[in-house]
Amino acid sequence: MQVLETIAQLRNWVAAKKEAAQTIGFVPTMGALHDGHLTLAKAAKAENDVAIMSVFVNPTQFGPHEDFDAYPRDLARDVALATSVGVDAVFAPSVAEMYPHDGGIRIHAGRQATILCGASRPGHFDGVLQVVSKLFHLVEPTKAYFGQKDAQQVAIIQTMVRDFNFPIELGIMPIVREEDGLAKSSRNMYLTEAERAQAPHIYAALQLARDVLQNTHDAAAAVSAARTHIEAHTSGRIDYIEVLSYPDLAAVDATTTDVLIAAAVYIGSTRLIDNIFVSNGGQ
Ligand code: AMP
Repeated sequence: MQVLETIAQLRNWVAAKKEAAQTIGFVPTMGALHDGHLTLAKAAKAENDVAIMSVFVNPTQFGPHEDFDAYPRDLARDVALATSVGVDAVFAPSVAEMYPHDGGIRIHAGRQATILCGASRPGHFDGVLQVVSKLFHLVEPTKAYFGQKDAQQVAIIQTMVRDFNFPIELGIMPIVREEDGLAKSSRNMYLTEAERAQAPHIYAALQLARDVLQNTHDAAAAVSAARTHIEAHTSGRIDYIEVLSYPDLAAVDATTTDVLIAAAVYIGSTRLIDNIFVSNGGQ
């Protein structure tokens, strides 16, 4: 395992792999690793000659009042976990290393970023695309791995890869959950015991919405059932619950085949997201 902290070190590592004609699997993360991240890393290692993970809490994807400062950071733990699943290198740059200049140039995420998390986190997906495009240029991966947990992020990155012709395959991995259904997240560690006990109701509400959608083909009824469930079983505040076509993230209609039911809920002050897919469950 090599820990690379500078872009120069990363470029040398990548050049050596390219020289040896090795395929590179890449897993971008913000660290505080859990089994969700490790599933991506295992796939990167299994499907490529070498696997590299980035650990970088990207300031440009956080809003001014969000948890950038509080976000959990423990590089030694992350490196040990990445090593345990066979990752060959971790790229862990400082903010100054990644952003020595601000030329004011941004990639602007389009319509797909105006809804769901994009509506409550303005600029978030522009920041995601800024860091992911930089990392793609630096790592030059054969295949990059993302989690379906962040379904909107996946859809937007797919659009960027298509529109900007990145010669990179994307691997999308299913959501890894706790035994009680709560989607694993680095932010789960913010939850108090009482909040943690409520949090699985987000997934329960999404499952209920899926059942209602499959039975009634009525998106509004599905959303309403999920809302009622969350209001009955948690003291949380719903940011959104929506039923949308995937990956274009538009209103469902009679032609929709792949449906995303997505939710963001504040449990206490912690904003948790989750989603569920329904194939042929639209209309
Ligand atoms: P993050 O460190 O939260 O930015 O996440 C890094 C990557 O791990 C993203 O592609 C996430 O979608 C993915 N990821 C996070 N949580 C999970 C999970 N519970 N299951 C699967 N993938 C996940």
